[in-house]
Amino acid sequence: MLLKLCNKKRFDFMGFSTVIMPENYIAMFEVPDKVQASSIIKKALPQILAIGERIKQRQFLHVEKVSIYSRFISRFINPLFYITSVSAKGFYVTNACVGCKKCVDLCPLNNIKMEGNKPSWSGNCTHCMACICACPKEAIEYKNKSKGKPRYYNTGYLQS
Ligand code: SF4
Ligand code: SF4
Repeated sequence: MLLKLCNKKRFDFMGFSTVIMPENYIAMFEVPDKVQASSIIKKALPQILAIGERIKQRQFLHVEKVSIYSRFISRFINPLFYITSVSAKGFYVTNACVGCKKCVDLCPLNNIKMEGNKPSWSGNCTHCMACICACPKEAIEYKNKSKGKPRYYNTGYLQS
């Protein structure tokens, strides 16, 4: 799929690598607390630096073997999930919001606007979870899935 995408975009396909990073999909899964997230990132760091070095040297990464199950998920289940489940409809803001606009600034798709000093979501969401996980007041929730869960957003983890 990546090879096809690169061809379509007229990019040179240079392989890929997978890196295990902390889960941030709070809309469905458990998210690690800060200590767990730090430990996962520290473990991944040598691999990330090695990948960065290869990219810097313009070297091919490698093409990992992808199981039939993973191919099936990527090709059929993920697109279906995206169409049926990925939208901003489940987000809402609580009284803990202080109107700082951080969620607005972080949304990569400009999908959030302030209305009456509170965020309001439009229809162009990719479920990156930046808004809900980076809110300094944990004032955003998603349906009944996120309440009480820690939020993971990668800022300053490597320093801690
Ligand atoms: S980041 Fe949180 S506190 Fe700031 S405006 Fe958005 S919801 Fe409110
Ligand atoms: S989940 Fe990501 S894309 Fe969707 S509204 Fe929040 S920041 Fe924007």
